[in-house]
Amino acid sequence: MVQTIHPGTSAPFARIAVFDFDGTVSLIRAGWVEIMVPMMLEVLTALRTGESNDDLRRAVEPFIWRLTGKDTLYQMIALAEQVTLRGGTPLDPREYKREFLNRLFAVSGLRIRQLRDRACAPDLYLVPGTRALLEDLRARGLRLYLASGTDDAHLKEEAALLDVTRYFDGGVYGALPDPEAFSKRMLMERILRLPGMRPHHLIGFGDGPVEIEELKRAGALAVGLATDEAECRETSPWKRRNLIEVGADYIIPNYLCRPVLLPMLFAHHEPI
Ligand SMILES: [Mg+2]
Repeated sequence: MVQTIHPGTSAPFARIAVFDFDGTVSLIRAGWVEIMVPMMLEVLTALRTGESNDDLRRAVEPFIWRLTGKDTLYQMIALAEQVTLRGGTPLDPREYKREFLNRLFAVSGLRIRQLRDRACAPDLYLVPGTRALLEDLRARGLRLYLASGTDDAHLKEEAALLDVTRYFDGGVYGALPDPEAFSKRMLMERILRLPGMRPHHLIGFGDGPVEIEELKRAGALAVGLATDEAECRETSPWKRRNLIEVGADYIIPNYLCRPVLLPMLFAHHEPI
């Protein structure tokens, strides 16, 4: 089901589409929120401030969401700030990130092994309908870019295991060791500097606030993926609400609505 947030928004002259990776294309890391929140609660509970689990959850969930789509390090910098705020001495945020990735890999590592061993079809860990959508966009002549806050080496490996790298003829871009060296904003600015590019030539897909905000800032059309991971059958009310808040033009739960969505995205509207 497609939910139109801004009626009449379309991009019939789109040349380039940018995709976020986790939760937008890939389900390899599905469930990361349920790993990050408890880890942060552990760190903060150890400070014995007398706050309840619910209090602490309310302290961390908003910034986890706001920073989703950026390098994970930024969420860990925010955690360190929360520790300091409570009179504690935080670890180096890179330490927190390492710990989080260790816990995440306990889950995602199983999926990666399954894919490496070809014990499952790659599409099992794709948001439903992804491959058909990517093929359709390529057939329409769009150039596709993949951009993620996941570390570049992991991103490239996971995209290859899912057999989607070949669709992204614009390139696959992940977080670099220096967090200042790459961001979705930098990539979009670079795209808009390409010869002849205009904001209405660009569309994007994402399940996090960072990419949707950057797309709207650039003047592009933004499709919000309110994916309820890992099944992605229903619209996640939480993602939906938050994606609308940052400016998504359309909200979808997966890409199975492609036959309805694409005619809307590429509609030629008569001038009023
Ligand atoms: Mg994402």
